[in-house]
Amino acid sequence: MRPIGILGGMSWVSTAHYYATLNRMVAERMGGLHSARILMHSVDFATIAQMQQDADWEGAGEVLADAARGLQAAGAGLIVIAANTMHLVADQVAAATDLPLIHIADATADAIAAAGLKRPGLIATAYTMERRFYRDRLEAAGLAAVIPDAESRTEIHRIIFDELVRDQVLEDSRRIYENAAAALIEAGADCIIFGCTEVGLLLNDKNVAAPVFDTVEIHCRAALEAASFETGETYV
Ligand code: GLU
Repeated sequence: MRPIGILGGMSWVSTAHYYATLNRMVAERMGGLHSARILMHSVDFATIAQMQQDADWEGAGEVLADAARGLQAAGAGLIVIAANTMHLVADQVAAATDLPLIHIADATADAIAAAGLKRPGLIATAYTMERRFYRDRLEAAGLAAVIPDAESRTEIHRIIFDELVRDQVLEDSRRIYENAAAALIEAGADCIIFGCTEVGLLLNDKNVAAPVFDTVEIHCRAALEAASFETGETYV
């Protein structure tokens, strides 16, 4: 197979998790000394986060589109944006190369639908929870997303940017996330999407009382499936 092209650094904390997860999955499936073939372009997150704040999505999309072109030139076989939020510009990135872009929300929607669930609670950045780009993909797959109330969204977003992307894991914040997940379940969610790639630092299948869907795990599995499918190799 050709290498998986990762657009990473958003943040480096979760990109490290992608790297480990892809390699772990390949080792589990193929055994021996097998590991994942990966090309990565890791951006400076300060630049991207500022563009997000300034709502310069076009500019941020161009940074990723440029990086995607570089990954194609280097030999990548497919593109993965290793974050949920930046899927806001997934179309712009996909248009930059001829390579398939493995969409994190579609892969997540497929996993939830395959489990027979319908009302995922979404814990993510404010961009992902509040804008339509992500929930629309879920709805297209027949899922009705439930999002936290405004106060909870602000707190969840703050913890991502003040702590998680800086590799800080605080127990007070874990309790805030646990309460947010519980409130979503109370409001009718039948599962919880870790819709930001750092959410798994605070939540897991033991402190959430419903099935959990961690977008890092799901995205990595989908990327490996696509990479194997492309060449017919038994890569997964
Ligand atoms: N890693 C994040 C995500 O999955 C948040 C960082 C960002 O805003 O890009 O959405």
